[in-house]
Amino acid sequence: MPNNYQRLKEEADIAMVVNSLQIPATRRGSAWFIPCPNPGHSDEHATNCYYKDGWNNVYCCACGKSFQAIDLIMYTLGCDYGEAADYLWELEGCPSWYHNRKQKKERFTLTREEAKLIGMHPVGKAYLPERMADQKRKLPGGREYYQKELDSYLECRVERVRWQDFLTEAQYLAVVRNKCRETRQRLEESLSYFQSLEGALEDRDVREGTLSLFRASCEEQLKAVEGITKRLKAA
Ligand SMILES: [Zn+2]
Repeated sequence: MPNNYQRLKEEADIAMVVNSLQIPATRRGSAWFIPCPNPGHSDEHATNCYYKDGWNNVYCCACGKSFQAIDLIMYTLGCDYGEAADYLWELEGCPSWYHNRKQKKERFTLTREEAKLIGMHPVGKAYLPERMADQKRKLPGGREYYQKELDSYLECRVERVRWQDFLTEAQYLAVVRNKCRETRQRLEESLSYFQSLEGALEDRDVREGTLSLFRASCEEQLKAVEGITKRLKAA
């Protein structure tokens, strides 16, 4: 969802915008005339384009068009829409409703099954050595012996590590994306293999038995991978 441009434009005070942009305005009756901001209209005498107090836009009689605050800012400063909108936002006193707060996205996570499917081990163990001993004893919680130590007993504190502990969010997402692509490729290959087998087999029982189970399983896993990919795109 984009920022709330509509409300920003509606609530704009065009006189304030004109002043802020230091556009010369000439009063005639109840109207203020400015040079037309339209780049397609070379308006030198400022007799066509005007606004009145309380308006949120200017109107050019020659162009037959009204220009709202963001247009006026864009044309005058030569900036893009987003920059002009931010300019207007600041001019309006930085109202909090402008920025869409929906950007607080939920963190992307994989379920245990999903992680297994794409070959990511969600949690690993880190062994942090604490004590070397000759004899084995019953270890307190969170402690294990390091299995690869052969001559003695190395007591370790065991810490769970997750991908997120040593990858940034963006790196983690990139890894997941790659794993998804690999898995999808593998599954698609299997699927087309099963399909070609099914086509080639004469035996109906095999075709509709085991083989169709394999195929269904492939399709199900593919669907799961697609589900992850979809969430990745939103992350
Ligand atoms: Zn004009």
